[in-house]
Amino acid sequence: MEGLAQLREPDEVAHVKQSEYLREHIAKAVVEASSKLGRVWLTTIPFQPSLRLTDFEVAAALQLRTLASEREAHCTNCGETNFFGHPEVCLQRRFRRVARHEGAKHIMGQALASTPGTRVRLEPLGHQTSRRNDIQVFSLLGSQATGLANAEYDLTVVSLANKEARATKLPNQDTDPSRLANKYLDSVADHKVRHRPTSNLPFHPIVFSLGGMMNGSTTKVFASWKRVMTRGTYNLMLKRLSLCLLQARVRSFEL
Ligand SMILES: [Zn+2]
Repeated sequence: MEGLAQLREPDEVAHVKQSEYLREHIAKAVVEASSKLGRVWLTTIPFQPSLRLTDFEVAAALQLRTLASEREAHCTNCGETNFFGHPEVCLQRRFRRVARHEGAKHIMGQALASTPGTRVRLEPLGHQTSRRNDIQVFSLLGSQATGLANAEYDLTVVSLANKEARATKLPNQDTDPSRLANKYLDSVADHKVRHRPTSNLPFHPIVFSLGGMMNGSTTKVFASWKRVMTRGTYNLMLKRLSLCLLQARVRSFEL
């Protein structure tokens, strides 16, 4: 009997930890779903092909939206417990990350390039490891005329279900999901700033969670773009980004 008690304890501890984690992750998922990029896809009318979702994507998105996890209790890719949020961080499904990064980069690059007097240079695919920046913006007429200064932007899309996000804590046992998510996203942005390549251009990290949240400094970058882009361009960019993140998120999802 003694042996059994010893066996049971770590199991119970693991179970409590798992449900604590689940509660926290679900709370973050609700905050993500209410963010601008996390919800715009729901109200986007597919008036052009780039704004269309497949039936599978809609079904998977609604399943995530209702906070349901995948049907299988264990991941069919890696065999780990299939907790809510696991598909985003599954080691066996990681290869899909490049696609979401590339898609979002091009959407932002196109919107910026449509600002008159602006030249945009996108880092070609395959250069992510060379630590160069994703998007470079050059103002040909000067920032006075275009409202957009020369700058370099670096894009990072992260899951709030990953280990670092889960390990992020707030002082005084604060468990507010929005502040927790922001603290983690800020730490990702700070890391990018500390490890940026040497350059004379002002550097701005752009950090999204896979569910659509942005940290404070990214929100400021978007506010500065909103001032220089036409309303149509800016809104279309948000819609396309929202869809792009959603498509990337559900691509590895199994209904
Ligand atoms: Zn897995």
